[in-house]
Amino acid sequence: MTTDYQAEAQSLSQQLIEWRRDFHRHPELGFQEHRTADVIADVLRGLGYQVQTGIAYTGVVGLLEGGRGSDGPVVMARFDMDALPVTEENETDYISQHPGVMHACGHDGHMAIGLGVATLMAQHRDEMKGTLKLVFQPGEEGMNGAEVMVDAGVLANPRPDVVLALHLWNDKPLGEVSVTAGPVMAAAEVWHCTVRGHGGHGAQPHKTVDPIVAAAQIITALQTVVSRNVKPLDAAVVTVGTIHGGDAFNVIPPEVKMSGTIRTYDPDVREVVLRRVREVVEGVAAACGAQADLDIVSLSPALVNDPEVTRVVRAAAEAVVGPEHVSSGDRTMGSEDAAFFLQEVPGCYFFLGSANHRLGLDAPHHNPRFDFDEGALAVGVSIMMHALAYYLG
Ligand SMILES: [Zn+2]
Ligand SMILES: [Zn+2]
Repeated sequence: MTTDYQAEAQSLSQQLIEWRRDFHRHPELGFQEHRTADVIADVLRGLGYQVQTGIAYTGVVGLLEGGRGSDGPVVMARFDMDALPVTEENETDYISQHPGVMHACGHDGHMAIGLGVATLMAQHRDEMKGTLKLVFQPGEEGMNGAEVMVDAGVLANPRPDVVLALHLWNDKPLGEVSVTAGPVMAAAEVWHCTVRGHGGHGAQPHKTVDPIVAAAQIITALQTVVSRNVKPLDAAVVTVGTIHGGDAFNVIPPEVKMSGTIRTYDPDVREVVLRRVREVVEGVAAACGAQADLDIVSLSPALVNDPEVTRVVRAAAEAVVGPEHVSSGDRTMGSEDAAFFLQEVPGCYFFLGSANHRLGLDAPHHNPRFDFDEGALAVGVSIMMHALAYYLG
C-alpha cells in the first residue's frame, strides 16, 4: 500500500466535517451512545465491514480482512464515542441539540477520523494483508469504557498485535503532533475517607474528639507524601478534592468526609504513594484520637506507549506534517482509559494538534466553548493511514 494518503484524506474532508458535525449536534453520554453507535455501524456495514454492536452496551467493532489474506497482523485502532455533561456555549450552526450534553473533548472528531480511516482502508482492501479492527469505544470520560470492552472480550477473536489511538489536542495548534514513547498519561486512583471522631458542644471540645481538627492535620500531612517520600525526579500527585463536615457553628460534628485523587506513572512510585497515603491518614487520625476509614479505588493504569509502535507512528506523523512539527515529551497527569488496551497490547496513543488561535478555536478540552480546527480531521486520517499501511500494506 503506497499511495498519497494526504490527498485521499483531503478529498474526504467535506465528509469528515459532516460526520463530525452530525455527532456534535447529537452528543450522548457514556454508555448511552445509541444513536452514535447506529450511525457508526451503518457506515461500517455500507463499507463492507463485519460489524459487531452492543459490546460494553454501546460499543461498535468493525473488522476488515485484507484482500491479500488475513494471515498478516491484526491492527486495532480505537476511537472514543462519549460526550460530557456540559452545556455548550458556542454559537455555531452545529451546536449541541441536547441541552446539558456536549462533545466538549473532541470525541466527535475522533469518530469522524475513525470513519474516514474505515472509508480509505475499504478502498485499499485489495492491497491489504492482515486484519483491521476498528473499535469505537463508549464511556471514556471517567467511566472506563475501555475496561468494560476488555472484559467483554474485545481483545479476542481476533487478538490485535498492535493498538493505535489518538486524541485531538487544543494545547497544540493544527499541524503539530506529539508522539512520545513510554508513559504519557498517569495511573489514577480515587480515594474516599471518613474521619470519625466524637461529636459534641462547640464550647466543650474537651468532651469530644474533633474530626475537623483531625481532618485538617491529615490534609497538611498528606502534602509530605509527594514532597518527602517520592524521589524528586519522579512524578506523583496527591489531591484532596472534597471535604465535608459539620452543620452548625457551635457543634463539633461526629465525622468529616473527604475525597481526592492520586496520580502516578511508575508502578513502584504508585506503590509507595498508596502505602504512605494510608499510613499518614490512619496514623494522623489515630494521633488525634480519631479513626479514619480510607478506601482507595484504582480508576486506570498508566498509559504507556510501546517504543517500536511509537517509532512507526512518529514516522507516520512526520510523513504527514513534517519532522519539525512532530514533538515528543508531552506527558500529563491526566488519565485515559485506552491504558487498559495498551497494557495488554503494544500500542501508541498520540496527540493531534487541533487549535487555531486566529479563529478562536482554542478553548481547553471540557470547556463549554471547546471547539477545534476541523482541518485536524484529515491530518488524523492521514497519520492513521500511514501507520496502518506500515503494518497492513
Ligand atoms: Zn475528556
Ligand atoms: Zn477525551
